[in-house]
Amino acid sequence: LNKIIYTGDQDPLLAALDGVVATYFDNDHSIKSASSSAFSKKLIADHIPDDKHFGVHYVALGASEYFGPNRNGDWWNEPSLKHEGDDYGMHTFVKHGHYFREHRNRDPKQAIGSIRAAAYNPEMHRGELIIWGDKDKAEKEYREAKAGKNLDGSMSARVAGDVCSICNHFASKSKDYCVHAKEHMTQWWPKKSKFVYVDNVKPKFFDFSAVENRADRIARHLEIMFHPDDMKKAASYNGFLFSDVQAAHAGIVLPDSLRVGCYSPDNQAWLEKLSSVEAYIGHIRTDPDTVAKDSRYEFFKQAATYAFDESEFTEQQLDALRKVEPSVLFGYLAKRAAVLPFLPFFAYSTNQTLKLASEDPAYNYAKKNLLTTLFQDAASAPADAEIEQMFTPASSIKVAACPIDDATEKLLEKVCADNTIEVGVVRNRILQLCAKGQPVQQQEKSAAEFTVDQINKAKVVAKAYAFFKIAFCNAVVEKRGEESIDDAALLLINSQHN
Ligand SMILES: [Zn+2]
Repeated sequence: LNKIIYTGDQDPLLAALDGVVATYFDNDHSIKSASSSAFSKKLIADHIPDDKHFGVHYVALGASEYFGPNRNGDWWNEPSLKHEGDDYGMHTFVKHGHYFREHRNRDPKQAIGSIRAAAYNPEMHRGELIIWGDKDKAEKEYREAKAGKNLDGSMSARVAGDVCSICNHFASKSKDYCVHAKEHMTQWWPKKSKFVYVDNVKPKFFDFSAVENRADRIARHLEIMFHPDDMKKAASYNGFLFSDVQAAHAGIVLPDSLRVGCYSPDNQAWLEKLSSVEAYIGHIRTDPDTVAKDSRYEFFKQAATYAFDESEFTEQQLDALRKVEPSVLFGYLAKRAAVLPFLPFFAYSTNQTLKLASEDPAYNYAKKNLLTTLFQDAASAPADAEIEQMFTPASSIKVAACPIDDATEKLLEKVCADNTIEVGVVRNRILQLCAKGQPVQQQEKSAAEFTVDQINKAKVVAKAYAFFKIAFCNAVVEKRGEESIDDAALLLINSQHN
């Protein structure tokens, strides 16, 4: 979802700044109001504008650990703001951002300036921006800034979803919010001694706009509230406007360079469901006290422990997979609701034996670092049409043209029996494996150093594995009906590798 964030909407930060979020500077004035830290001064000094431009230093937003959520109930966590990879964090502003007026961000040619620098200031716990405005195109802003007016600004961010502070519910749009976020956003929740807010997962920031003043914004909010159509339905509870609804109303669109997740709407829907279940499992692992100990929780506990046993997979079974044309194989597995565990998938896709695959540092890196956030990572990575199609099953005509011999079929049947997500079959398997006792935990390799090549290889295969499972969901529903992938099935699909 896309979110809108207004400068000055985080009250403790605004108070700390004495109300000044924007500092004007150009190449013949000294910096007017002093920015309080050396880091900020350096940021300005490195970006003194040329004659055609003026500069504005913004304190864009504060880390919520220090300044709390903003007035929209959005929490911006420090690790995400600080993150320096390509995929998310404060600095994505520079790559994807322009300076617009009122979020007219469809066409970069309409930009009235550019974002020169974006950084997280770790001493002051806040994100900062250096904007250059074009003295002609942003004439109005130039005049106001020079006169010492506090230029209001607003930012856009793309997140795969956000997480409720009370129940950890992950939602990829405000329509799917839990009751806390939906009806009590920003309110105090005595049972948890916490405010209700939503934590934004791995934000990608992509535009900064000059916006009208606060009084006009209130008028625009009223306009959304009294809008005659859908917008009103989507808008709010008790007059609260969620930031994704505001973003939609402001006309914010994601630039092409930031197309994330999936191109196909079907795939995107599965990706969101799988991410949501994955986030739930993550909370069970990291924060078990906050998760309700209900039947869903119990089912996961059993499934994760007993439903699948990767070590049962044999080299002969792997060879059997290779004897079948790939798209025919994917159809065969989907028809039987069977999905490959990560080790055989890794071996299959890197053309190695199970033994070699299990010793491959890339495999071990992926297992250790990537599998618990497989879908959430895919949801915030750039969309990739090729990988979305890679695991599509063959048509029935092609299947008929590629018969599978008896010996191979026998091996595949066992693979399917061991790895189906059909709940009835899984329950039997859980009973059997329970009777055998706790599965042997594989020996953890000691903290090995991984090379860049090994890490990249791990990332490529992990991403492919996520899309293998997404294609699997699509194919199972097509062959076995909508109800064949329910909540329990989604938990099983995740617990197989997570
Ligand atoms: Zn909640």
